[in-house]
Amino acid sequence: LRRNPAEHEFHQAVREVLESLVPVLDRHPEYAEMKMIERICEPERQIIFRVPWTDDRGEVHINRGFRVEFNSALGPYKGGLRFHPSVYLGTIKFLGFEQVFKNALTGMPIGGAKGGSDFDPKGKSDAEIMRFCQSFMTELYRHLGEQTDVPAGDIGVGTRELGYLFGQYKRITNRYESGVLTGKGLSWGGARVRKEATGYGAAFFAQEMLAARGTSLEGKTVVVSGAGNVAIYAAEKCSQLGARVIACSDSNGYVVDERGLNLEVLKQVKEVERGRLTAYAERVPHARHVAGGSVWDVPCDVAIPSATHNEISRDTAISLVKNGCIAVSEGANMPTTPEGIRVFLEAGIAYGPGKAANAGGVATSALEMQQNASRDSWSFEYTERRLEQIMRDVHAACHEAAEEYGSPGNLVLGANVTGFVRVAEAMQALGLI
Ligand code: NDP
Repeated sequence: LRRNPAEHEFHQAVREVLESLVPVLDRHPEYAEMKMIERICEPERQIIFRVPWTDDRGEVHINRGFRVEFNSALGPYKGGLRFHPSVYLGTIKFLGFEQVFKNALTGMPIGGAKGGSDFDPKGKSDAEIMRFCQSFMTELYRHLGEQTDVPAGDIGVGTRELGYLFGQYKRITNRYESGVLTGKGLSWGGARVRKEATGYGAAFFAQEMLAARGTSLEGKTVVVSGAGNVAIYAAEKCSQLGARVIACSDSNGYVVDERGLNLEVLKQVKEVERGRLTAYAERVPHARHVAGGSVWDVPCDVAIPSATHNEISRDTAISLVKNGCIAVSEGANMPTTPEGIRVFLEAGIAYGPGKAANAGGVATSALEMQQNASRDSWSFEYTERRLEQIMRDVHAACHEAAEEYGSPGNLVLGANVTGFVRVAEAMQALGLI
């Protein structure tokens, strides 16, 4: 705590992992001798920089940029960029720390990092977004490379922002280095299924958790939070697997549509028009918009939180369980507080923590890197099959580790232990670096 003052989310993420590792350290005393915990909690490199840009009226703004390169024992640093006004070093460090274990869980050769800025993309023109992205990359480019550090999107960073970032990288370096960013558009080096991957992956993970309990998504009611990249495609895959997705949210409120969300309208409003959910409710006659409030007040069988961290408190978790929720698959990173997680585990419902349940996004990013490296382009069907298999493997690894380490069904412990052991083994082999 003294080393990293006031980084609350980072402390929360570290504590959750460390609590799971007691049985691992009992079995591997050499990790304590090698100070593996202290090493793994300290980022390899942290970069903080000024991002100056001008708005359309010529006014100058200064934002802060971050890249925390956390761990490269398994491969080049890999993890998204978040543009949101709430971003500070503690956010990026918690996300980077989680990313290390998530990336290890995928079984792909990628290290962990995260970055972003306190820039708020909301209400900005295309030209302002472009100027900001160009300024951000003008500093960040020197730290990146397909063998070094490979960013992707996250909250506030989608294909449009990645396009401007990639364009500036290409211009400065004079290299068409496709593998330096993932989540690219299909016409400039992107891969099929990357856009859908995190949401689809969270749905596949829910399906695996339910299958382990002898049931499935078929006929279940689902609520997702958020209405961004992860939420939309989690909803789409759940619907394809036979569930009825009845609600989603944005930061102004939520919509409920008991007949099941109309995903075409949702995509039009959110992806094309970049509008608010009120516009969805205006177009779909049987949908109801609730301003403010929590989407988690809507009873459901399966919850897929896909907005942001700490959106599910202890009280929210209690009300979800009371309303009959049997499974939570986290599309977002750390959306449930530690007290909320305890409620889910004690209630014995299926609970898939973000670092496992949303690993499909970064896994598909690694598939995009493979395609870039071999100048190849895979079909949607093939890539989706690979994603589904990866999510099955991630679930199986967490499930088995939970049993092996004495907490059957506890996928939090299973995910943390599996991710940690994979990274620790590599760090041990590479020596004290
Ligand atoms: P988007 O920016 O596409 O969408 C985020 C959605 O969540 C929006 O609907 C947004 O509403 C809402 N939201 C964000 N912050 C808040 C907040 N503080 N309060 C209320 N609502 C909020 O982001 P993504 O869908 O990409 O990311 C969502 C989550 O998934 C994040 O936790 C991210 O780290 C995680 N994730 C994303 C991956 C990816 O591949 N994109 C990979 C793995 C994890 P509004 O527009 O009104 O702000």
